[in-house]
Amino acid sequence: MSYFRTTIDRMQGYVPGEQPLPGSNVIKLNTNENPYPPSPAAVEVLRRFDPELLRRYPDPYSRRVVEAVHRTFDVPKDWIMVGNGSDELLSIIIRSCCGESRCVVYPMPTYVLYRTLAEMQDTPCREIPFDDAYTIPVTDLVAARGAVTLIASPNSPSGSVGSASVLAQLAGQLEGLLVVDEAYVDFAEESALGLLAQYPNLVILRTLSKGYSLAGLRLGFAMAHPDLLNGFFKVKDSYNVNAASCLAGAAAIEDQSYKTINAHKIVATRMRLSEALTIMGFRVWPSQANFILVRPPQGNAEELYLALKERGILVRYFNQPKLDDKLRISIGTDEQTDCLIRTLAELIK
Ligand code: PMP
Repeated sequence: MSYFRTTIDRMQGYVPGEQPLPGSNVIKLNTNENPYPPSPAAVEVLRRFDPELLRRYPDPYSRRVVEAVHRTFDVPKDWIMVGNGSDELLSIIIRSCCGESRCVVYPMPTYVLYRTLAEMQDTPCREIPFDDAYTIPVTDLVAARGAVTLIASPNSPSGSVGSASVLAQLAGQLEGLLVVDEAYVDFAEESALGLLAQYPNLVILRTLSKGYSLAGLRLGFAMAHPDLLNGFFKVKDSYNVNAASCLAGAAAIEDQSYKTINAHKIVATRMRLSEALTIMGFRVWPSQANFILVRPPQGNAEELYLALKERGILVRYFNQPKLDDKLRISIGTDEQTDCLIRTLAELIK
């Protein structure tokens, strides 16, 4: 007899991108972190953090973060819920709404964790294939009748976005919840935030891991109608966000200009890298995120991934249908990007 539920025994489990130990000498372009440091205002909060705050449990509602989100994005406070990264919020939503006869729907390929979270919950997944241009398959998504439909916009690994009008159409037609995962929105031209007030079934997720350079802090937030958040609060751990993350995260959210300057730099580097690789014969999908999806001229993605790794450059290779001839490359600093371009040029010669 196994100690585990059959579901857990059978599932593979999410495999995160490699995280080399701090101090390792690698150019890390595999998990879409921001190459620039976090806001000096957030760093200062951590430096001055009062250890006395560690003696007590943290605020179960992360009200400092709620306040910062409210002021920054003009969303009412009771429409905001804070999580230990957006991964935790995704888990809360799926645990709240899905089960054996309440399926999860999403276009494929997308963030692999969606499937993992559904599997843990014994929830069937309906995976609707994207076309080659990564257009959101609205009709098929609606027909799949999910309790929860997940759209990452920008999507990973494609970098493609769903326009606000397409997402509005989806929210209007779906019977269940529409979760728009905006982890990469800080590098994009469009957001679904303007739709929030009109659609009681819409949840928008944001994270501080990408645009704000705070992946190590573990902070994300959901914006949705209070009726939805009240349900999610029943499922959330009471003290899900630690005291230091709450204070530093609030400071980072309030420092929008710093985030925007870094996002502009990353978008400029993304354009430069896309052009350089296109000239070298790669197919480069248009991206609105801080990474690009590329197909090497010979389609030998795994070989290139391994050769880059040997030379100290980590990129992401997905050994799965439709992606095994492609690489996803996070946008680094200009120096890192120059090194990547030089190395790839040598390798494909
Ligand atoms: N959504 C998407 C689409 C992602 O790629 C990621 C990063 N792996 C996340 C959510 C998770 O972000 P967080 O660090 O906030 O848990």
